Amino acid sequence: MYVNVLLLNGFDKTLTYHVPEHLVADIKTGTVVRVPLQRRFEAALVCKIIPELPEKLPFAVRDVHSFEEFPNDTQFHAFVSLVARYYCTDELGIYHRIRHFLDQEESELEELVVQAIPVKNVVLTDEQQDIVDYILPHVVTPSYQPVLVHGVTGSGKTEVYKKLIQEAFAQGKSTVLLLPEVTLALQFEHLLSEQLPTIPIRGFHSASSPTSKKEVWNALVHGTPLVVVGVHLPVLLPIENLGLIIVDEEHEQGFGEKKHPRLNSKTIALMRAHQYKIPIVLGSATPSVQSLYNAQKYGWKQFAITKRFAGAFPTLQKVVLTTEGQKRRKHFWVSAQLETAIKECFAKKEQVIIFINRRGYSFFVQCKTCGHVFCCTDCSVSLTLHVAQSSELRCHYCGYGTPLPTECPTCKAPERSLLKKGIGTQQAVQIFQEIFPAAVIERADLDSTTKKRSWATTVERFKAGEINMLVGTQTITKGYHFPNVSLVGVLWGDLNLHFPVFNAREVALQQLIQVAGRAGRQRAGGKVIVQVMRDSAVFDYVDEQRYIEFAHKELADRQASNYPPYVRLATLEIRHAKADTVDADAQKIADVLYALEEKGELGVTILGPAHPAVHRIERYELRQILIKAPTVHALQVVVMHAQRVDVKSDVFVVMG
Ligand code: ADP
Ligand code: ZN
Repeated sequence: MYVNVLLLNGFDKTLTYHVPEHLVADIKTGTVVRVPLQRRFEAALVCKIIPELPEKLPFAVRDVHSFEEFPNDTQFHAFVSLVARYYCTDELGIYHRIRHFLDQEESELEELVVQAIPVKNVVLTDEQQDIVDYILPHVVTPSYQPVLVHGVTGSGKTEVYKKLIQEAFAQGKSTVLLLPEVTLALQFEHLLSEQLPTIPIRGFHSASSPTSKKEVWNALVHGTPLVVVGVHLPVLLPIENLGLIIVDEEHEQGFGEKKHPRLNSKTIALMRAHQYKIPIVLGSATPSVQSLYNAQKYGWKQFAITKRFAGAFPTLQKVVLTTEGQKRRKHFWVSAQLETAIKECFAKKEQVIIFINRRGYSFFVQCKTCGHVFCCTDCSVSLTLHVAQSSELRCHYCGYGTPLPTECPTCKAPERSLLKKGIGTQQAVQIFQEIFPAAVIERADLDSTTKKRSWATTVERFKAGEINMLVGTQTITKGYHFPNVSLVGVLWGDLNLHFPVFNAREVALQQLIQVAGRAGRQRAGGKVIVQVMRDSAVFDYVDEQRYIEFAHKELADRQASNYPPYVRLATLEIRHAKADTVDADAQKIADVLYALEEKGELGVTILGPAHPAVHRIERYELRQILIKAPTVHALQVVVMHAQRVDVKSDVFVVMG
């Protein structure tokens, strides 16, 4: 027998090896083998079994040396095929991704910002215990059951997870715990190891070392029960005794991988729980509207924890910067209300967090006189500004484009009144430093990894009270508890609201609630000020106790404009170095799909081709085509047709 293999450390070379008699029984597609290459051995993935060579090769075929043991998870290969089919991709890519660590060098690892963890005696409240009591029988007698836990920030969801993990472990079962970010995974790993010292808690993500990943792999080979914590990878591991999956912060976008194929570990976790017939817990203070919809429609069990275990909810104040009363404010980005609140806060020796929500590079355009936002009337998303020879507004869903007008269509303010760029943290620090010269103001930006260490120091100093005000982006919103922060100010609340995607409102609100949750965690009297350019009902729901109200409204809007969860969505990404080629190819594919749409059998809607918000990455030009379909199956049929079109560009599929 012969095999074609791909080297794990270089994915594009296939090599042929002979399999000696004693290894034949153990080697299958997806097995990792050690093969000789020049004078060393390399790890490689078996991608094809060849019983006999069709013809004699012009060189000597060498023998496979050995194989890596594989955990005894009998459902695993079927699961990998399922995932591959769902994402219209290749199984081998998935095997490659999870087993890549076998050939990784040790490298310098991410620094963890560790917060001290008091170990305390926890007796679950009735609300918490009810959740545990409901889920546990599904662990003991394995059965598929998704459970959505909507617990306000600080309600004690983590305590519920801890109890479940302990109980599953007592049953000899492993748990997979997914968080949307590596830093959060590191914090959970640390917290659980401290608080559950008798249970093996293991990280498996980009910041865990290859050695510790190999240890996890060995434990899986031996069938030892454990808890695997991570972002994308744990749910793709073969785990024989998997008894429970927990997805925390389930609403977050971070579960989607940034590289192709863009697997989403939350989606995969649901597929896995279903296939393995085990319970899955999805927890969040702001559940995704998709999950709330699923709970209604597919009988997911839903729990709500409505009270914070300690502390109170902050009061919320909205300041609309374009109203008459704001006209004479001293600084464009700082209302009198915010300035006064900061002053009061400093007087009481309390701390302030200023938040600038920022995502991506490409922006919508908003009139700073009246708040007008340019939107695509067909797609109900904002238009994105593209600046080349001239400035143009484009819809990156349907491709509609129009020159940037020279005045605001609503209030007729001149072009210089059109805001085309956000405000950065650096600029914000300068502004506040001018207003409060005596205050220690620092920024928290995690844009570059080289700044990780200084970020750790900043967190420590902020906690110690050496910094009065922290100005930051998303990085400050998650996972950190700063007990002395009593004021959170959001400079430009509209920013994410008009990010050009159909779920912009949902994502913006979830983020605002997260930031708002930083104020007054430990005690009453916290305050949140959200400054906005144009008012929207969304801002009233920054009070997280009203989140479900928002979700109902949002669902109605989605249904009216035909977006998920009422349709299935996929994006085709077409990529080539040359703009002419990518345009021609995207059009060629779109034409084929429009023909399918016209036939009307599949009930699909095609939008585009269009320029994505960021349409040039490194040396590639990108275009996209959006597909809406009533079912996953219809979506997959359309994608299949697209993949068959003969084009020069690369075509990637992004589900959802
Ligand atoms: P969440 O994850 O929902 O935001 P946490 O699990 O972090 O909330 O809980 C908030 C705080 O309340 C934590 O300090 C946690 O230890 C504490 N807490 C929650 N439930 C209990 C309990 N039953 N007994 C003691 N402390 C609790
Ligand atoms: Zn459009």
